[in-house]
Amino acid sequence: MSSTSAPRAEIRVDLAAIRHNVRRLRDLVSASDAPAVMTVVKADAYGHGMVEVARAARAAGTDWLGVATLDEAVALRASGDVGPLFAWLAVPGEDYVPALAAAVEVAGYTVAQLDEIVTAGAAAGVTPQVHLKIDTGLSRGGSPLRDWAALCAHAAGLERAGSLAITGVWSHFAASDEPEHPANDAQLGVFKEALEIADQAGLRPRWRHIANSAGALLRPDARFDLVRFGLASYGIDPAPGHCADLGLIPAMTVRARLAMVKQIDAGDGVSYGHTWIAPTATRVGLVPAGYGEGIPRAAGNRAEVWAAGGRRPIRGVVCMDQFVIELGDGEAAAGDEVELFGTGAGGHPTAQEWADACGTISYEIVTRIGGRFARVHVDSEAAT
Ligand SMILES: *Cc1c(COP(=O)(O)O)cnc(C)c1O
Repeated sequence: MSSTSAPRAEIRVDLAAIRHNVRRLRDLVSASDAPAVMTVVKADAYGHGMVEVARAARAAGTDWLGVATLDEAVALRASGDVGPLFAWLAVPGEDYVPALAAAVEVAGYTVAQLDEIVTAGAAAGVTPQVHLKIDTGLSRGGSPLRDWAALCAHAAGLERAGSLAITGVWSHFAASDEPEHPANDAQLGVFKEALEIADQAGLRPRWRHIANSAGALLRPDARFDLVRFGLASYGIDPAPGHCADLGLIPAMTVRARLAMVKQIDAGDGVSYGHTWIAPTATRVGLVPAGYGEGIPRAAGNRAEVWAAGGRRPIRGVVCMDQFVIELGDGEAAAGDEVELFGTGAGGHPTAQEWADACGTISYEIVTRIGGRFARVHVDSEAAT
């Protein structure tokens, strides 16, 4: 890619990979009691583009889409999405009306929240469809077990009055990527207890769900009626070291073109603070993307990119707009392409490797990438 119109730096998202992953994940969890599948597209689809990914996931047959905020759900509806859609995060006083009017199913954590949802449902002229959340041990959102019976009783009363419908009971794991972690069994135990209490209150939720990507893949007994696939939908292993090859394809490839290539001398310091000093004379290349694009500053002196036919290390700290790689004797010229991470094919770096290098998780690497990168969606299966 050396044409003058080639972008300075771009995030390329392959929608064929998304479709492949959605289908593949359904196959991986399909057994006699195959659960429905939700594709989680919150946070701009983990940096991949919410609207485009949502369309690809629907085309591949996902049953549900999931987002965190009501705004995300309303934006999806505005894009033309009409299928089952769940949004699970709101604050008191937030306007539920647009989401409820657009048939978004919402989460209920507290009695006060259910009352808010009922008021908004009346204003919207709809019966809100609510998934009650039990906190089974993440200590994040959801009702603690001690309040659960009262929440269920309140919900059942509202349901009998026709003010809402409890369509789901759900929860979320704390350590599903560590299958041996005792929290998994403990949380499943609490979840079953909570389902029992809901049943005794007269609730008959159609959708019982607790599993995210790792939970769905590693714990068949956690699949219940619905599984919520986020990370795995993007082609990234949700539990590195614990899953056999899942046959997923990373959908995101991040590239830039070298702004400059130059020779430096032994003893020259590179980038702010001279945290790397060239031990020998070498050649370096300037990559025009930095923490303004969501490249972690922690990648300095740690992560590697693909350039000049091989892996090349980042030298010195990552700046706001740019960073420096060592090319050594690799043949490269200004304008040549650098791949930061992508599918991993051919030994190229992956988002997981960047995460390991930076002391974080792959989720954060792909989700934070953005800023001034141009994001393009391609379809590697489309006729060329
Ligand atoms: C983000 C999220 C998911 C998806 O998790 P992955 O690990 O990416 O599959 C599922 N459920 C909830 C509640 C979430 O916040």
